[in-house]
Amino acid sequence: MNNIKLGWAGLGNMGTPMVKNLLKAGFPVAVYNRTRSKEQEAIEAGASSAEGLQQLGIENEVILVMVSDDKAAKEIFTGPDGLLSGNVSGKLFINVSTVSPKTSKFLNESCRNKGAEFLEAPVSGSVKPAQDGTLIILVGGSEQNYQKAKPLFDVLGKLSLLVGPVGAGSAAKLAINYFLGLNLQGLAETVLFAQANGVKTEDMLTIINEGACGNGITKIKSPAILKNEFPAAFALKHLAKDLRLAKEQGLETPLSTPLYNSFKQAQDAGLGDEDVMAIYTYLDKE
Ligand code: NAP
Repeated sequence: MNNIKLGWAGLGNMGTPMVKNLLKAGFPVAVYNRTRSKEQEAIEAGASSAEGLQQLGIENEVILVMVSDDKAAKEIFTGPDGLLSGNVSGKLFINVSTVSPKTSKFLNESCRNKGAEFLEAPVSGSVKPAQDGTLIILVGGSEQNYQKAKPLFDVLGKLSLLVGPVGAGSAAKLAINYFLGLNLQGLAETVLFAQANGVKTEDMLTIINEGACGNGITKIKSPAILKNEFPAAFALKHLAKDLRLAKEQGLETPLSTPLYNSFKQAQDAGLGDEDVMAIYTYLDKE
């Protein structure tokens, strides 16, 4: 019986489908989202609405957080009425948002100072794997906490890996998102180059996807390129953030600086709320 009382903060593109899977698996989930109206979908699926972040921390045994970035995660945890503002001794907090290893260590320290436990567990995979419960979960923290959280990870993902102490999971997440960025930019540049030389977009995407260079991401993103429409599954601003965090974490490889600049400029050009594949739109206009 899945009777661990769960709290969940952050119901964006990722948070909502993840909560719905936990509800489907039988966990009771109390939710909080800064814009309270966005809780509706989770409530309709069976979640309860927490009075506030402080109550979310006090009233639940395991509390998960899925928000945009380092600033949001810090506010949620350590803000004046945040998750850690009440008596949370013995609780387990799990940050599944993508943040820097430094912020993750800060959140760990903040929890430990309150007698609570902490895991970082950023996820690889976008909205579809979040809906299907097939995310890959990159965990940093202690074995004991990992084992406690494993039943939840088994619902949310097809694989969870304890990669090391707090900080290691975030580092692994930044590494895989660097590879994601390379794939997206490579796909966009390749299609645009082919187009400029008279090759139809559809034909070029078939050549890529039927051959050895086709992969999960080229296949998922091809329909959006064909339609030339990029509603956000993974907002471009979040990948620009991840590439910045990777640079700050010491990524100094030959492709990393131009890749970061490309996504940053696309964000500055107003494409931040579009999907990551909108890098194609930006490069097309360049
Ligand atoms: P999203 O749809 O943009 O949702 C962001 C969430 O963060 C919303 O619930 C938002 O609340 C909340 N938030 C932002 N700033 C806040 C603040 N200062 N205080 C409280 N709440 C705040 O983002 P997402 O796509 O779900 O991504 C969430 C995290 O997962 C990010 O770290 C992202 O990098 C990572 N991630 C995303 C994907 C993906 O494909 N989407 C995949 C893997 C990992 P409001 O509703 O009030 O704005």
